[in-house]
Amino acid sequence: MTITPESVVSIHYTVSAEDGTQLDSSEGKQPLTVMLGKRFLIEGLEDALQNKEQGEKFEVDIAPEQAYGQRMDELVQQVPKDMFDGMDVEVGMSFRATTEQGEQSVMIIDVAEDHVVVDGNHPLAGVPLKFEVEVVEVREPTQEEIEHGHAHGPGSGNDH
Ligand SMILES: [Zn+2]
Repeated sequence: MTITPESVVSIHYTVSAEDGTQLDSSEGKQPLTVMLGKRFLIEGLEDALQNKEQGEKFEVDIAPEQAYGQRMDELVQQVPKDMFDGMDVEVGMSFRATTEQGEQSVMIIDVAEDHVVVDGNHPLAGVPLKFEVEVVEVREPTQEEIEHGHAHGPGSGNDH
């Protein structure tokens, strides 16, 4: 079966940064099962999957614009230390915060005497990615999956 914009696909994937550092992989796990067209995958990967066949293996380089976006300097902000209410804050800690852009994950990148610098950029913002993909299965969504707007079954994360 050929992948269409509405397919449910199961893929094995390995994603690396430009320098070859492996960032994530489904190796040794169940293939990832997703419904396309619902923004579960980054845009560049979703585009690359179109018209591929079950069983096909391919590699694709994805620019940040088609992945997690470019880094935005305005997402790096200084906040007063007393906002953390005596918490032990350390560089590298991340937490959910409500910002002007809505709720997002931010990471502490600097801790000074009276303030803390937080970075709301996605850790992979600005990073070109290389995906190695194997299309394990391609199928039409079931009626129930269409109603729920996501895939069901092994590897989908939805076991109801
Ligand atoms: Zn469901």
